Amino acid sequence: MRPADLITAWERGLRRSPAGRAQALLEAAGVDRADGLALTVGQRDALLMDLRAELFGTRISGVAGCPACATVLELGFVLDDVRTVSPEPAPGPVEVTIEVDGYAVRARPPTGGDLVALEGAGPDRALRTLLTCCVVDAHHGGVTVGPDDLPPRVVSRLAGRLAAADPQADVRLDLTCPACARTWSAAFDIVTFLWRELDSWARRLAQDVHTLATAYGWAEVDIIAMSRSRRGLYLELARR
Ligand SMILES: [Zn+2]
Repeated sequence: MRPADLITAWERGLRRSPAGRAQALLEAAGVDRADGLALTVGQRDALLMDLRAELFGTRISGVAGCPACATVLELGFVLDDVRTVSPEPAPGPVEVTIEVDGYAVRARPPTGGDLVALEGAGPDRALRTLLTCCVVDAHHGGVTVGPDDLPPRVVSRLAGRLAAADPQADVRLDLTCPACARTWSAAFDIVTFLWRELDSWARRLAQDVHTLATAYGWAEVDIIAMSRSRRGLYLELARR
């Protein structure tokens, strides 16, 4: 991917929710907008893992704090360790059907597009809005019911089934504290992780552009288009 496309994706995602950022990154990677929005969250995240591997490699390093004693653990793994699905999108929508307390519900897992649509919804409306997106049809005693009328027990069971149908959407790391032996499960969110890396990269690049434009008067577009090694060479000279 060209650095110019990546910096454009960064700019587009700056004021967006994580879902909007994920979509901006997919589009920069050449994924058609409508196709990207139609991917389930897990399929989308698998593609973002591919993109991360292309940009920064497959090794992930990070830290996590023990919830019991606050000891900081250093984490290291490769993306393949947390892959649960093939990066190829499934051929069609994966639907699940549940029958609970006389309710029969057919639904599909949330897509990246659903989460983008939630950007404007407050946290109190988010779950209900998501249900409206995901429920294909619901009946009780042969009568059609709306997603808003499903009881909490049915919604909870449905959420569990949908999560199981799209496991890549929720990556969990099983951790054990070396100090107190507490075990817990920590979430690894590729969108947040990759965005943070991209943000650091963009800010470093801006610093380089500033240094070279000040020293040589070159245009931003030309500096960004330069290979990393050539830019590094001029930076070294400019700082002398
Ligand atoms: Zn601990």
